[in-house]
Amino acid sequence: MNEEIPNLDGFDEAALDRAFGQLERQAREAAVAVSDEAAVEAFRLEWLGRKQGRLNEVSSRWLKAAPADAKKLLGVRFNALKAVVEVLLDAAAGAGQTDAALKAEAIDITLPGTRRLMGVDHPITRTLNEITSVFAALGYSVGVGPEVETDFYTFECMNFPPGHPARDTQDTLVVAGQERRSQRDRLLLRTHTSPVQMRTMEQQPPPVRIVIPGKVHRNDAADATHSPIFHQVEGLCVDTNITFSDLKGTLDHAMKALFGSAVKTRFFPSFFPFTEPSADVQISCIFCGGKGCRKCKNSGWIELLGCGMVDPAVFAFAAEKQPGYDPKKISGFAFGKGVERIAMMKYGVSEIGSFYSGDMRFLGQFV
Ligand SMILES: [Zn+2]
Repeated sequence: MNEEIPNLDGFDEAALDRAFGQLERQAREAAVAVSDEAAVEAFRLEWLGRKQGRLNEVSSRWLKAAPADAKKLLGVRFNALKAVVEVLLDAAAGAGQTDAALKAEAIDITLPGTRRLMGVDHPITRTLNEITSVFAALGYSVGVGPEVETDFYTFECMNFPPGHPARDTQDTLVVAGQERRSQRDRLLLRTHTSPVQMRTMEQQPPPVRIVIPGKVHRNDAADATHSPIFHQVEGLCVDTNITFSDLKGTLDHAMKALFGSAVKTRFFPSFFPFTEPSADVQISCIFCGGKGCRKCKNSGWIELLGCGMVDPAVFAFAAEKQPGYDPKKISGFAFGKGVERIAMMKYGVSEIGSFYSGDMRFLGQFV
């Protein structure tokens, strides 16, 4: 039950001040005690309830009983009290919680915050970007292509003869259930980024300068230096009068840009189906400077990439769609390298699997 509203002992200002002052004090005390939602509602009912609220009672008992000349004074005080009660109600509803509850929820802004880990490029991505940017600076554009490729783009147009071991399913992951398709249309996971060379030449007449970073797949068992998925960067340059000297100069510059100006390069005859002549490129050991150490097996040299002059047979395939690739009029070179191998060398990583494990203890070192 609500406390009873006393009768007024007069209608003069002093009597009204006393009476309304007391009511306001009671309202403030009641509001301070409000601790939860139910208490807020109880407070509202007690003071502002339409039937039994205290203000309603004040209105019916004091206002109505007041003589005509006192009604105005009373009305002003009544409205002021009502405004105070409404503000108290809003404050109580807004806070809705006791000081203790608020204290428990409070945030100590002097505590150190949650530290977020810095995001950085994965070492493979970083190495890929470093290599592509060296060639971008030489005017090469960046090309990409599908990872699920046709036999034609992966092997046939790259001059892999039918019996070449790379076409064997021992080395290539092929998409199942394609027996009805012709050999050249069968899908497989690309074993090198070379298909993008042909796709680029088909789209664009010479000259071409393109660098091709990307993921490739081979049916290799994983070990310390092999993974069924890895990354390559390939490059292709086609124009009139491109010679082997251009190839040597370009790769020598690129190796110096990647590993430092003291690095030397040397070329050895090699074989790739899509280049003729072909070469393996070695760089002087970046660990011992060529003196011989464990990393270079005491040879002073590290084999890093393959390259060569584009085989005229490859240009003949491109010329089917772009007649500009007439091997009598143009020439070009191509090169390719494994990104993991370079990243392992640069960062001293001995297990290729470390790159793919997602282990933050490993990746955290590259922040
Ligand atoms: Zn060495």
